[in-house]
Amino acid sequence: MVKDIRKNRVPMPEQPVETRITNFHEVPLGYSPEQAIEEAKRCLQCGKPPCIGNCPVEVDVKQFLKELSEGCFREAFLTIKKCNPIPAIAGRVCPQENQCEGACTLGNIGSPVNIGKLESFLGDWAMENGVEEAFTINEKPEKVAVIGSGPSGISCSVDLRKNGYQVTLFEALHKAGGVLQYGIPEFRLPKKVVDEELSYLNKIGVDIKLNTIIGQNLSFKELREEYDAIFVCTGAGAPRFLRIPGEELNGLYSANEFLIRTNLMKAYMFPDEYDTPIVVGDRVAVIGAGNVAMDAARCSIRMGSKVSMIYRRSRKESPARIEEVQHALEEGLDLMELVNPVRILGENGWVKGVQLIRMRLGDPDETGRRKPYPVPGSEFVVNFDTVIEAIGTLPNRLFLERARGLEVNKKGGILVDENLQTRVEGVFAGGDAISGGATVIQALGEGRKAAKSIHEYLKRKH
Ligand code: FAD
Ligand code: SF4
Repeated sequence: MVKDIRKNRVPMPEQPVETRITNFHEVPLGYSPEQAIEEAKRCLQCGKPPCIGNCPVEVDVKQFLKELSEGCFREAFLTIKKCNPIPAIAGRVCPQENQCEGACTLGNIGSPVNIGKLESFLGDWAMENGVEEAFTINEKPEKVAVIGSGPSGISCSVDLRKNGYQVTLFEALHKAGGVLQYGIPEFRLPKKVVDEELSYLNKIGVDIKLNTIIGQNLSFKELREEYDAIFVCTGAGAPRFLRIPGEELNGLYSANEFLIRTNLMKAYMFPDEYDTPIVVGDRVAVIGAGNVAMDAARCSIRMGSKVSMIYRRSRKESPARIEEVQHALEEGLDLMELVNPVRILGENGWVKGVQLIRMRLGDPDETGRRKPYPVPGSEFVVNFDTVIEAIGTLPNRLFLERARGLEVNKKGGILVDENLQTRVEGVFAGGDAISGGATVIQALGEGRKAAKSIHEYLKRKH
């Protein structure tokens, strides 16, 4: 018989709600070594562990939990690091409920092992104790350019460098990390963790060129002439808008702009410590209910606003991580389900409210979620001072317009074959730039896959 200890997780200590809504510090406080060992001991060490197959980069979860449960932190960390170059980050932001934890056998009798939090525990422990993977690099002369420093660029650069290639990673912004740096807020992913985990790239010899927009500071053609292969992982940073009347009003942001100002430019510390201003009213409407919407809502709550989330489906259909939805609701988010904006209302050029219409759910659409339909005659108005649209993003057009030869689908995603090779010789692509928006771990996985394909390509070429 399974002991009771197996059924429930070791509780994760967290900042109390009333404190955390006044600061941007991380919400979970992390396990102590003793708590981490106790949680790892819950693992059943399944004969055929389903958790591994459900991880897009196939981390050997069973093995690292065994090592961790025996107190062998170094070994456990190195087991993860074989497949995942950024465990402290992935452990914090991966949607584990749909991946390793979603498949965990313990989920049938209670809660799955808290795999994500144990992964980040080990990543943090390794950083605090200066533990790193040791390997020898057999230098190769071929040069590879990686465009974009998000998760797919990171994993591709690491694998190529380990294989001896001369890797240059180009990043448009002044800090590396992609969405990890500019999108996901400090209270979910401290930037100290991102910076420290990314410093590994410098240590293994990846040449990172910041403030360099390919297609502007350097052309795609110049890159093709200088490098033997290219990996395009420029993400999907162009916001989509609803295209309804009133979107030109002051006080309306895309979630991208709002989060870049808040996270990358530290507007939440304006004016005392940083000089990027942000205008957030007393009443904020966030449109959408995915991870991006939750992040924008929780930032606004921390800046003192009362926040309503406007969602045309119901909570069950929200694509956001369960933990984020729970945290947002605890923090006072008003989730308005089955409503859709039809017009943004203004006064003196500023947002004053939103006209909404009620929705009903029909049959599932191609995404598997029930499709929303407007209920005729059900319009009503709610007053807001700020509106943040978080209804999705598209791949960045600027680069695509200038990168001659790359073909894209209707949504602007770069077309690739099963090896992530584009139609242009020696050019590969992955991450959100091909999918239009997915997850950190999917982008990581594609970066690793592209590194393999580039290696095969360069072997054939030389
Ligand atoms: P990105 O992370 O977008 O990185 C692309 C990089 O390319 C950027 O740094 C960009 O500046 C750079 N770039 C673009 N054009 C150029 C150019 N021409 N020259 C040089 N550099 C260029 N996923 C999860 O799994 N869990 C979450 O909790 C989660 N939360 C999210 C919250 C927010 C706010 C957002 C926006 C996304 C979230 N996601 C989450 C999705 C996840 O972050 C992305 O799927 C992932 O970051 C994609 O990685 P990428 O490497 O393809 O691109
Ligand atoms: Fe352990 Fe769960 Fe994986 Fe089984 S499925 S090995 S219990 S983590």
